[in-house]
Amino acid sequence: MFSDEVIKKLIKAGEIAKKALRYAERVTKPGVKVLDLANSIEKYVEDIGGKLAFPVNIGVNTVAAHYTPVYMDDTIIPDNSVVKIDLGVHVDGYIADTALTVCFNPVYEGLLEATRKSLEKALEVIKPGIRASEIGKIIENTIRSHGYKPIKNLSGHGIERYTIHSGVIIPNYNDLLNVHRLYSGVYAIEPFATNGAGLVKELNQVTIYALRSTSRELPDEVKSFYEKIYNDRRELPFTTRWYIQSNTDVNKVRETIATLKKYKLLVEYPVLVEKENGLVSQFEHTIIVTRKEVIITTA
Ligand code: MN
Ligand code: MN
Repeated sequence: MFSDEVIKKLIKAGEIAKKALRYAERVTKPGVKVLDLANSIEKYVEDIGGKLAFPVNIGVNTVAAHYTPVYMDDTIIPDNSVVKIDLGVHVDGYIADTALTVCFNPVYEGLLEATRKSLEKALEVIKPGIRASEIGKIIENTIRSHGYKPIKNLSGHGIERYTIHSGVIIPNYNDLLNVHRLYSGVYAIEPFATNGAGLVKELNQVTIYALRSTSRELPDEVKSFYEKIYNDRRELPFTTRWYIQSNTDVNKVRETIATLKKYKLLVEYPVLVEKENGLVSQFEHTIIVTRKEVIITTA
C-alpha cells in the first residue's frame, strides 16, 4: 500500500515528466541534432525540479528503444521521420516513465494513431485486479485493427522505488502465459506498433548502462566512478555522455566502462531496432493502481 507521501512524490514525478514530454514534443524537429535535443530535454527536467530516472531515449524510425545520443553525436533528426521520445523522471526514487511519438510525414499518422489508441483503450479498462494479459489483448487487438503489429518482445512493466523494471511484465499482446494481475503497484503501460515484423533485435551498440549492486570490495580503478554514480542514482540507468566534459575524458570513461564490465558491475542495454526494419511508434504512461482506483501520473 502507498502512503500519501509516496503518492505525492509519484504524482510530482508524473507532472514533471508530462511537462518535459510536452516540451520535447515542441522542440523535436527535422534538422535538429539529437544530442542538442537530449541535452535540452534533460536540462528541462532538472530545471523544473525532477531528476532523471534514465537518459532520455530518442528513437528514430526503426530504432525502438535504448538509444540516447553519445558525446559529440552528430546524428540529426531526418526529414519524414518517426521519432520516439521516452523519458523517465524520479522524485526521491519514485519514478514516472512516459513516451510519445512525433512524425514528420503524414503517411505515418496511422501508425501513431494505432499506438495512441491502443494505450488509450488499455487505460480505459485498467482497474485493480485486471489480468496483465487482458491489457495485452486490448493493445494487440487495437493495433491490429489499424493494420499494424504490436511489438511482442517489448512490454510494459512494474516500477518500484529506484527500479524501472520490477520484473512484472505487461505484455503488448494476448500473452496467455502471463498470469499476473495488477494489484496495488506502479506500472508503465507502453504499446509499441510497427509496420515491420513485430519484433525487435539487439544491435551491438550500447549507449545506456546501469550499475549492478555489489557487496564485494570495489576495484581501485573504478571505485570513485562507481561510487559517484551509485550514491547519486543506485541502479538507475545512466549514459557516458553525462560524465564526459571534454575530449580528454573520452578514453578515461571508455576504460572505466570496460573495467566495470570486466568485473561484472555493469548492465548494458543494447540499442533495439525493428527486426525487419519496420518503423516503430510508441506511447507510454505510468499509472498507480491502488486498492480502489487507478491514477495516471503522466496524463
Ligand atoms: Mn519509457
Ligand atoms: Mn517503460
